[in-house]
Amino acid sequence: MQKNRHSMLTSLLLVSGSAFVFGFMIGQPGWTVAIAVFLWALYQIKQFNRLSEWLLDREEQSEPPESSGHWGEVFDELSRINRRQESREKLLRNVINRFQESTTALPDAIVIVDANNNLEWWNNSANRLLGLNDSSDRGKPVMNLLRDPRFIRYFKRQDYSDPITLPSPAHSDLQIQFQITPFGDGDRLLVARDVTRIRRLEQTRQDFVANASHELRTPLTVIRGYLETFLDQELPRPLVRGLGSMHQQTRRMENLVSDLLLLSRLEASHHISDEQPIQLHNMVQNILEGAEQLSQGRGGHQFVIELDDEHDLTGQEIELHSAFSNLVYNAVRYTPAGGRIRIRFWSDKDGGHFSVKDNGPGIESIHLPRLTERFYRVDESRSSASGGTGLGLAIVKHVLARHGGQLTIKSKVNKGSNFTCHFPAEAVIKKEVEVVDDEPLIIHQEQSDNGSSHPSL
Ligand code: ADP
Repeated sequence: MQKNRHSMLTSLLLVSGSAFVFGFMIGQPGWTVAIAVFLWALYQIKQFNRLSEWLLDREEQSEPPESSGHWGEVFDELSRINRRQESREKLLRNVINRFQESTTALPDAIVIVDANNNLEWWNNSANRLLGLNDSSDRGKPVMNLLRDPRFIRYFKRQDYSDPITLPSPAHSDLQIQFQITPFGDGDRLLVARDVTRIRRLEQTRQDFVANASHELRTPLTVIRGYLETFLDQELPRPLVRGLGSMHQQTRRMENLVSDLLLLSRLEASHHISDEQPIQLHNMVQNILEGAEQLSQGRGGHQFVIELDDEHDLTGQEIELHSAFSNLVYNAVRYTPAGGRIRIRFWSDKDGGHFSVKDNGPGIESIHLPRLTERFYRVDESRSSASGGTGLGLAIVKHVLARHGGQLTIKSKVNKGSNFTCHFPAEAVIKKEVEVVDDEPLIIHQEQSDNGSSHPSL
């Protein structure tokens, strides 16, 4: 443009210079220069008008007008810019078209929700899976169209690390998994996937395990009953050993079957419906009696109990008993004789916490994320010798999930392990019984050599 300004100035000087010479020759230099400059200005105005007409009318006339001189240069430059922009636009349009084609082909519903929670854009599958309507729903609040209270809670929660599965608002027989990803300035991308088939397969698997376990129960009880009757008789030694081993294995299978049945029941629903106040002192006392018996057969352990005497938990008693006893029995089973096992319950602003800590062999960190998987064992030989079913921690995880809680595991090889069940603040209640002492109840119970001491909670 600098060049054009110069050439415009040059042309003005040329025109007025020539007019001056010509005017001088005819004896009217002033008038001649004035007329020449006036004509020159008219020409510039005309070119300027052509440019503004083209700028206003660019949709219909893609190329700028033809011209010569410095206006020609301006028009050529504009034409180049125009062409560059058109090719960029074309590229962008292609990308958008390809993106829309690919999202249309996707079987998953994709919905863009803006920062004001309104529906901005969605693909065809969203019409089918979520019942959205292209013409009437654009710009409407997402929560007016996806009204399930569980979805609304999930949408408002802002923590989208886990997906949520709900029936489709358009077809109640379809199960839809919703996953939200925040992006941009408060916008959210909602992906909804049809998981009906996977859910059905999962249900079939759960039903199969539950039915098979149920069917195995009666034959196992009969076999154990006969074995116990035989073992009560006077029998030759090899037979006693064989029958004794059969009896032990039958007990193991019975434990496995009852753990599998419990897991199936826990899986059947994600929330407890019959919660009640739990008297933790009594529950821990009861678990401790079982743990002591187990400990006696393994050389004895030292138990330390520290329970908050002001608070209890609400929940499903049988399930919590099962979860806590699994942790305590594991500590006894995996901690060598003479080891120390500390059972604690305390509450704080985050909720209630029940922990079982031992100074046993500990667990290598690579195993920790997988410990709650069914039948996952750190050391197969040590675990099967311990008499466990391999389902204990899976049961703990499910029980806690049903109570809105979670399990954390800390462990160091050769130092010991600490399993803590965390419960939400809503699950912590003030104790019903009045306590005299201000201090939290701390009981140190040491198992004597003959295992005869009992804690008094
Ligand atoms: P199992 O019936 O084998 O004990 P669990 O699900 O209860 O099954 O535990 C899974 C695995 O975690 C166990 O096999 C064991 O290797 C490890 N484990 C559990 N508790 C402890 C503990 N207190 N100390 C060391 N290892 C443990």
